[in-house]
Amino acid sequence: MTTRSIKKSNQHFQKAIHQLPLGVTSNFRYWGDEETIYIEDIAKHVGKEILLKGWINIRRDHGKLIFLDLRDATGRVQAVVLPNHEEAGKIASQVRPEWIIEVKGIVNERPEKMVKEGELNGTVEIEATEITVLSEAQTPPFELSEDTSEINEETRLKYRHLDLRTDRMQRNMKVRNQFIQHCRNYLLHNKFTEIETPLLTESTPEGSRDFVVPARLHPGKFYALPQSPQQYKQLLMVAGFERYFQLARCIRDEDLRADRGFEHTQIDIEMSFVNQNELLDVIEEMITRSVEEMGYIIKEKPFPRITYKEAMETYGEDKFDMRTEEEKEKGILAYAWVVDFPFFEKTNDGKWTFSHNPFSMPKEEHIDDLLAGKNIENIMTQQYDLVCNGFESGGGSIRSHRPDILKAVYKVMGFSEEETQERIGHMLDAFKYGVPPHGGIALGVERNIMNLTGESYLREVQAFPMTRGGQTSVMKAPKELTPEQLAELHLRVDNEKE
Ligand code: ASP
Repeated sequence: MTTRSIKKSNQHFQKAIHQLPLGVTSNFRYWGDEETIYIEDIAKHVGKEILLKGWINIRRDHGKLIFLDLRDATGRVQAVVLPNHEEAGKIASQVRPEWIIEVKGIVNERPEKMVKEGELNGTVEIEATEITVLSEAQTPPFELSEDTSEINEETRLKYRHLDLRTDRMQRNMKVRNQFIQHCRNYLLHNKFTEIETPLLTESTPEGSRDFVVPARLHPGKFYALPQSPQQYKQLLMVAGFERYFQLARCIRDEDLRADRGFEHTQIDIEMSFVNQNELLDVIEEMITRSVEEMGYIIKEKPFPRITYKEAMETYGEDKFDMRTEEEKEKGILAYAWVVDFPFFEKTNDGKWTFSHNPFSMPKEEHIDDLLAGKNIENIMTQQYDLVCNGFESGGGSIRSHRPDILKAVYKVMGFSEEETQERIGHMLDAFKYGVPPHGGIALGVERNIMNLTGESYLREVQAFPMTRGGQTSVMKAPKELTPEQLAELHLRVDNEKE
């Protein structure tokens, strides 16, 4: 493209964006001298010449006729190369699956016998007149036109960029995107502000091990990657934003399991001036609208709200599945809120620790006991979990905005005044300048998407997950640093010891 045409196309593009009402997208891929259309829009162009760009999914060579199934991010279409288009025929006989090509052709209606009812482009096909190869491709290490769940994990993740081309992975990423965008839209329409919080920070007490980052400018000191934005989001309440959300990356050095990775994303939310029921109502409405707009069916509305005690008595666990076998098959979503959790639990060495979140507020009637440090085992917290189809898909609490209550929590856990100040002094200090009553929640994006897609592994709904052994996909982390890097970071690796 010449500079002039780039300029021209940019102007064109900007004008187009400007004219588009919110939520309506353009049907055109590029605004250059020639318009390329998306495969999902082909049927609107019957009888016309169009330009397509995409991947060859399958090629069938019938001698005189060559069929190319083309794929782009929006769908599939069949192109046929007839013998009278010699040049195109020559190229079509050389191309292979996964090559990327540009096809100029006429959109024709399919003969009646060949119509595939109910399929995208089942009524049309392209008569290709010109083909240009944009990128050749080696034969992929595994079949991309099929489900790859049975393929060896290491291979799939080494070639994740190819695995992601398969239908199932494309669907999973798109469901994830849709769910996030629906929730974001809801929040933006309800006075929430999206704010990012730091990744290089101080350790937060979320109950897991931290990933740490050496600080070059501070020899011997380390940043921690956030296990969650818990303290920052509370500080944003102190800062007066009232309603915050963020698609927050949370990084925890935990043992890897089917539904747990080192990294996950949360729809992280905090609200001022709400009580527990008001907050649950807002989140419930966000989820209900989002999943129903995506075509899912919810088993029970409003979501049942049951206490932790009832959950344990009825289901034997606090993450339960209320669906019948038939409902499971239909992909129905069974949400429930679990409330009234014990605030503290015993550690192995007999001390008390928080069961969910040290920043939670005890139930009103248990505040006096907490302040007096008695009846610890009976203190309940204003903590809530969202359960869906057997997973904990979210959790949060109304927070202690009173410094005396927060201090009492740390006292119960055995911290001296100095140790408490060392850990959460910045929060206690911040609260001295006025803090609205507030509460929040975090919804695990991956766990929600696993429910929406029916996947059983977290890695199936993340673009570039880690292997079970904690190795990154495609790239080779973790790996050694060079001696120069280590020196700059004031680090020495002791290879001798385990
Ligand atoms: N910070 C909590 C978590 O990550 C969620 C919350 O209480 O908002 O689990």
